[in-house]
Amino acid sequence: MIVIVTGSAGYIGGQTMLVLKDAGHEVYGIDFRQPPEHLRGVPDGFLYQDFASDAALSWIIQKQPNAIIHCAGTSLVGPSVKNPSEYYNNNVAKTLKLLDIVKQSMPRCRLVFSSSAATYGEPIMNPIHEVDPKEPVSPYGESKLMIDMMLESYHRAYGTDYVSFRYFNACGADPEGRHGQEPGATHLIARFLEATRDDGQFSIYGDNYPTADGTCVRDYVHVDDIARAHALALYHKIPAGVYNLGSNQGFSVKQVIEAAGTITGKMPFVSTEARRAGDPPELTASPTKFDMVVGAWRHHNLDAMIQHAWNWYVRQDKKV
Ligand code: UDP
Repeated sequence: MIVIVTGSAGYIGGQTMLVLKDAGHEVYGIDFRQPPEHLRGVPDGFLYQDFASDAALSWIIQKQPNAIIHCAGTSLVGPSVKNPSEYYNNNVAKTLKLLDIVKQSMPRCRLVFSSSAATYGEPIMNPIHEVDPKEPVSPYGESKLMIDMMLESYHRAYGTDYVSFRYFNACGADPEGRHGQEPGATHLIARFLEATRDDGQFSIYGDNYPTADGTCVRDYVHVDDIARAHALALYHKIPAGVYNLGSNQGFSVKQVIEAAGTITGKMPFVSTEARRAGDPPELTASPTKFDMVVGAWRHHNLDAMIQHAWNWYVRQDKKV
């Protein structure tokens, strides 16, 4: 298949390109960031442009892809509260342009979209199912929910074919060590492992939540499993719609730290700080809807997520 990946210089877009190339597809990347050194040469072609620019949209039409995996977007909760304009423009307005060229010039192209658990807001019950209330608490979550709604409207009105994945906590690195997170990523496992490697300090954001050990519980999913889910979604036997990508299993911050300490054999200095604004105590996903269609798609447990991320960070350090 001919596949275009937007946001291909990023963490999930980059891993998706690797998985698609491994599977033998013809893959083109597009990003307004230059790809990191280790991703250069992976795709069959790369366009260094904003995906919604006129030049990029013409380039996409000219490729006539079988599918577009749309990972481009801005994705941090806190900044979206301070600057919602950026989020509605970058995520909603630009994706609308992409949808319109698909509708007009590539009606058979399947769109696979990077949505988010942030569309649900603070759940009343865990694990979260796709049909549960969607009450995002940030412009980031709102922008992702709006795109999910646009996709469904276009599907009903024009037959636009799509799959939208609501990722829970993406983590880990390429099992073969080819790709991982950028330095300074703000997520739990990334921060903890960088602090471990650099003999630094790590803060637990709150230990007085109503959970078993007082720290927040999240559903961690290996980035390689997420990338493989995208590859599975290229095949149209998956009905158009929204799917959670999670595992139905939650781990607390303290459990993640303990597992990471066992794998790395060392610990950074750990302190407990105040809660981070907007963190719900628990977020876990029911992945049953996607499981029912594709069967087993998760191949990596928490230890593998931590081990692969650790391999990546140690390797990056040696390069410096
Ligand atoms: N977390 C933490 N310290 C950090 C980063 C994250 O205690 O330096 C906690 C955070 O409060 C949340 C969990 O780890 O409860 C997962 O946060 P992350 O930013 O990885 O993902 P999110 O759930 O916000 O998407």
